[in-house]
Amino acid sequence: MVNLDLTEEQQLLEQSVREWGARAVAPRIHDLDRAHQFDRALLPQMADLGLLGSCIPQKYGGAGMDYVSLGVASEELEYLDTSLRVIVSVHVGLNSLTLLSWGTEDQKSRYLIPQAQGKKIATYGLTEPSAGSDARGIQSVAIKKGDRYVLTGEKMWISLADVADNFLVFAWSDLEKKKQRDPNGISAFIIERAFKGFSSGTLKEKWGILAGNTGFFKMDEVEVPQDNLVGREGEGFKIAMFALDQGRYTVAAGATGLIRACRDASVRYAKQRKAFGVEIGSHQLVKEMLAQMESDYQASRLLWMRAGSLKNVGRRNTKETGLAKWFATVASERAASDAVQIHGANGYSDEYPVGRFYRNCKGAVIYEGTREIHKVMQADYLLGYRTDRPTRCELPPYA
Ligand SMILES: Cc1cc2nc3c(=O)[nH]c(=O)nc-3n(C[C@H](O)[C@H](O)[C@H](O)COP(=O)(O)OP(=O)(O)OC[C@H]3O[C@@H](n4cnc5c(N)ncnc54)[C@H](O)[C@@H]3O)c2cc1C
Repeated sequence: MVNLDLTEEQQLLEQSVREWGARAVAPRIHDLDRAHQFDRALLPQMADLGLLGSCIPQKYGGAGMDYVSLGVASEELEYLDTSLRVIVSVHVGLNSLTLLSWGTEDQKSRYLIPQAQGKKIATYGLTEPSAGSDARGIQSVAIKKGDRYVLTGEKMWISLADVADNFLVFAWSDLEKKKQRDPNGISAFIIERAFKGFSSGTLKEKWGILAGNTGFFKMDEVEVPQDNLVGREGEGFKIAMFALDQGRYTVAAGATGLIRACRDASVRYAKQRKAFGVEIGSHQLVKEMLAQMESDYQASRLLWMRAGSLKNVGRRNTKETGLAKWFATVASERAASDAVQIHGANGYSDEYPVGRFYRNCKGAVIYEGTREIHKVMQADYLLGYRTDRPTRCELPPYA
């Protein structure tokens, strides 16, 4: 029989994140969101819970949890607020797990260990002002000069751009291949905020995930030591896609948490609010929305757990992770919209949390592969236009 029960360790993690969230986050999240304020004080608390190094092995400073635990944490964090799950998505999913698989021992000791311990915060810079889905359209370049690369370019829509210390960055290191749009000309680098020529800023006009930091960074002839090249020269595109397999997993589990948050808030409200002399929950059309939320929650959870189980045994899961991310994020948009609907005019105000859920859910339908990109991907697998070939480095199975 397939065992879908959480292990004791996973249940303990779920419980600890819930208790911490109820105490340290829930009473303040409305105000943080309204003030567009990223609360740095939450980072050491998340580190204490092991969340910033959740499934990084203990020998690299992490908590040594399995990959399903990363999903459990992501679901609980986004139940509280999307901004918290985003921290884990970029810091652990996109950055640290990539260093675990692709980094040298020297890079692991200089970057992965302090990141897993939560002493340094990390993010991932692929998107640029003129290129998102079309990652080969990036314009950043890395010119080799002696034992360094000189990086010039601009990254846009970067989570934690104004918070992170370390950045996993992608740039063209082969200008001939850039002209031909051959992805084998892209390389991956680790950049530190302290490197000369690096600057960053926060996007002020964002209308969702307001308690999170999203911004841009510029590289003005930033000199990066050769030792900070991740993988081999020309492997950057593969590394960027590898990272997305882990980031998307946390987004899938997070969106599942958002659906649960919508469901719980809606059930509460449906039992309180009366219309036509009865609780609105007794009206069939309200029931329909609640039932849809429950089926979306359960299906989304099964999909991310399947992807996490494959990660645990070291099996390639690009297709399964993509499906989980696509399904859960689209379902979370439906759940958030219906949650506002069930709350009527009250849902249209920030007095209730569902308006924040509605603003927050949309980002995930866009980042880490838009809804359309994921649709195309799933169809391409079916049609045989796409298959996953093994890469030089894969995610290590959970030992
Ligand atoms: C809150 C937030 C946080 C983010 N954080 C990060 C981060 O930390 N790091 C990072 O690198 N990026 C980040 N991003 C950027 C994100 O990954 C991109 O926005 C995303 O990849 C989409 O790119 P785009 O915005 O340029 O849209 P575009 O690629 O311009 O797409 C516009 C529209 O065209 C559609 N489209 C494009 N190509 C196709 C196609 N082939 N077939 C069908 N439809 C297509 C898209 O689906 C979309 O609807 C973040 C974005 C947001 C909103």
